[in-house]
Amino acid sequence: ALVVRHRIRSSGRWTRAMAILENFKEKCGTPIGKLRQVADAMTVEMHAGLASEGGSKLKMLISYVDNLPTGDEKGLFYALDLGGTNFRVLRVLLGGKGKHIINQEFDEVAIPPHLMTGNSEELFDYIAAALAKFVATEGDGFHPAPGRQRELGFTFSFPVRQLSISSGTLIKWTKGFNIEDVVGQDVVGELTKAMEKIGLDMRVAALVNDTIGTLAGGRYCNQDVIASVILGTGTNAAYVERAHAIPKWHGLLPKSGEMVINMEWGNFRSSHLPLTEYDEELDVESLNPGEQIFEKIISGMYLGDIVRRVLCRMAEEAAFFGDTVPPKLRIPFILRTPDMSVMHDDTSSDLRVVGSKLKDILEISNTSLKMREVIVELCDIVATRGAHLSAAGILGILKKLGRDVRDGKKQKSVIALDGGLYEHYTKFRISMESTLKELVGEEVAEHIVFEHSNDGSGAGAALLAASHSQYLGVEES
Ligand code: BGC
Ligand code: MG
Repeated sequence: ALVVRHRIRSSGRWTRAMAILENFKEKCGTPIGKLRQVADAMTVEMHAGLASEGGSKLKMLISYVDNLPTGDEKGLFYALDLGGTNFRVLRVLLGGKGKHIINQEFDEVAIPPHLMTGNSEELFDYIAAALAKFVATEGDGFHPAPGRQRELGFTFSFPVRQLSISSGTLIKWTKGFNIEDVVGQDVVGELTKAMEKIGLDMRVAALVNDTIGTLAGGRYCNQDVIASVILGTGTNAAYVERAHAIPKWHGLLPKSGEMVINMEWGNFRSSHLPLTEYDEELDVESLNPGEQIFEKIISGMYLGDIVRRVLCRMAEEAAFFGDTVPPKLRIPFILRTPDMSVMHDDTSSDLRVVGSKLKDILEISNTSLKMREVIVELCDIVATRGAHLSAAGILGILKKLGRDVRDGKKQKSVIALDGGLYEHYTKFRISMESTLKELVGEEVAEHIVFEHSNDGSGAGAALLAASHSQYLGVEES
């Protein structure tokens, strides 16, 4: 099977490879009119998801965060950030009015891959142990007031049906995680059990999605932040909604009149999305077929693998790499998005970075310059589609809020962004930002600000733990 099925006359190979590339490019097309349709569909689904539970593929989850940080938060708080291949533990010393964050320490721990698809107890025991180890390193002047229980903001970057600010059940796993016995469980209960087992006395004061943490962290630094977007391993967005625009909310009307909504836009789907046969195959072979379709064409977990899939087809059907298909090319996820980004960014005249990546990762050597150019173009097609669609998603939010048009008030719309794709894939970021500005037009664009919230989700969770502390109103001794 390693031998290319039909021996293709070498003169026809290039033409055939180009036909595959062109066809893919055409199907990935995102002209401005299409992006407007996607944005409109996003707005429609937002309304539907807010109207009733299960009203849309967009879950529009109620976060129970109806007050964002003000800057008055005070004391020592912990945060735990779980959602990708690493998790982080933080401790943050908040200074109170005007003093902001006085001190911050963190530790990052890799999650052993087998725990991502194992069982609940193993995962939470591992996390609790790492947290306990971190707590044990508390230094002088960096511990809670005497007699106070330590409090934690738990950033859990998966779709959760919140029961309160500090509890919620997992709806489903996404990204590389798949631990069946957690689905439907209260993740705070699971974590608390694991902490109790090892005698770690800590209370989860807030359970938040990373988008919510990023929004809270962003708002702490800049009061004009209205939405947050994560472009990382996965993708998602959150924004501040008016409480009376949420028909499915039957609780008390919050004093602020606002409620933060976790959209879970990764699960957005629309007939306007430019999907290709490669995306369909990726989806079918994924851990969560039929789910997270928007995420699968935008986020860092998948972009590199889409490129690999097209290259694999070109190798099989057009002998792009010669008479045999390079065996490594058949291994799912072997081509990671960070490597794709590096190839895409190769500015050397002979594309030698592309050459060495192909050699190191896929064991493909002796590529011609022409071939390497094709690979750069392929990266460009895949990244541009993702960047354009994420811009369309943000336009959908602005439309929902009526901020896509000029309103005379000249209010700023600041979007807090985070995630490895946004932070490290420069071409992606630039394309996303310029596309959004193009979509809203020059005048509105002046009032849109992109703010990188560097790991703001952890600090944001600590801030929310502070504003939901059991000691609120109690003077520190
Ligand atoms: C999850 C979201 C999360 C996003 C970014 C998605 O896969 O469903 O809850 O916010 O990834 O981490
Ligand atoms: Mg993260």
